Amino acid sequence: MPSFADLDLITPLLDALAEEGYTTPTPIQIQAIPPLFEGRDLLGLAQTGTGKTAAFALPILQLLHESRGARRIRALVVSPTRELAAQIGQRFEAYGTHLGLKSTVIFGGVKPSSQVAALKAGIDILVATPGRLLDLQQQGFIDLGAVEMFVLDEADRMLDMGFVNDVRKILKLLPKRRQNLMFSATMPPAIGDLAGTFLNNPVRVEVVPESTPVERIEQRVMLVPKADKRRLLAHLLHELDIGSAIVFTRTKHGANRVVKHLEDEGIRSAAIHGNKSQNARERAMEGFRSGDLRVLVASDLASRGIDVESVTHVINFDLPHPAEVYVHRIGRTGRAGRTGEAISFCDEGEVDMLRAIEKLTRQSIPVDADHAWHDPGLLDRAAPPAPPQRQQRRQDGPRPGGQRSGGPRRGGRRRGGRGPRS
Ligand code: AMP
Repeated sequence: MPSFADLDLITPLLDALAEEGYTTPTPIQIQAIPPLFEGRDLLGLAQTGTGKTAAFALPILQLLHESRGARRIRALVVSPTRELAAQIGQRFEAYGTHLGLKSTVIFGGVKPSSQVAALKAGIDILVATPGRLLDLQQQGFIDLGAVEMFVLDEADRMLDMGFVNDVRKILKLLPKRRQNLMFSATMPPAIGDLAGTFLNNPVRVEVVPESTPVERIEQRVMLVPKADKRRLLAHLLHELDIGSAIVFTRTKHGANRVVKHLEDEGIRSAAIHGNKSQNARERAMEGFRSGDLRVLVASDLASRGIDVESVTHVINFDLPHPAEVYVHRIGRTGRAGRTGEAISFCDEGEVDMLRAIEKLTRQSIPVDADHAWHDPGLLDRAAPPAPPQRQQRRQDGPRPGGQRSGGPRRGGRRRGGRGPRS
């Protein structure tokens, strides 16, 4: 297994990585960094969580450092959402802490004044969402004429979000001679077409997630009447060893109601969703990252790109639709080699969604009989779809009731036995 030093990274970067606590490069870093140093274009098939940001940020920092020129924008990273852009910007700051390069992040939804000031002061690396980038470029605040390295991150999401024309416009603003990188979690034909328009004989690097969903994430489902979900959540946060949790709700109002309930229970939490101002979202993220808030309640849209390493639990307060979102949500835990737990609440109206998730992941998610607030017959009554590949798991585990074949528990609903705070 090569080390970061084997990848020919310079000391200031090695020092920064050590300070970040990274010991070994991830597979995408091992595969992508050497060809990038050779100046090759790159097509990376990888999701967040694989270490892809460092896979492009480290070579960019090193190459710009070694060819230090006038302070102009020499690397441009375009990312679909402001959360992702902000995180990429933070990574550049962290890895580049011992280098003299300057980077900044620009995105929409906030006043441009401080972004314009940073641009005017001069930067080497710009991380941007497409709309704000074009906006400020058209106003004359951004000169892309010196860009040597261009990264299109999460290209599939970029397309999904309707940014394809913006991307084409941005490409037209870049100098012809440059190194191009594109990352995408999936490779539909439209992405192949886009790659063909600007990648020049790229090295293709593919990292499959370790498994889908990640094996390190332990999953279970709790049957609960819809009206009891908030109380069950508070109960779990009191009862279980939950270090820090992201709770997913389907709606913004749902998220607000959960936060209110948790605050009433003395559990520090905050919501992030589209109705919150950028400032409020950043404050919430910061509070969560620092451990000040134990729980972050998120709607799916806002959750993209939440990347906090120490999340121990993902709790699906509502089951998501479509089922793919489940895999994405629970991937917020079990980051960077740690283990994580995913707990999903399932009410009387969500059985079909549970089935769809099991079908997609080809796993049966064990029912937690210790927290069966709903009659387990709930599952038997709903017509099952074509059975997924059932995986017997954790037969020897500490958690009872792992399989759902046992039928209703003695006593049926465990309304009486819900622990200290009921
Ligand atoms: P990414 O896929 O770029 O979103 O990175 C996922 C997470 O892994 C981030 O929190 C990074 O800080 C972390 N990370 C990236 N590379 C490494 C590494 N080599 N060792 C440990 N953690 C890493």
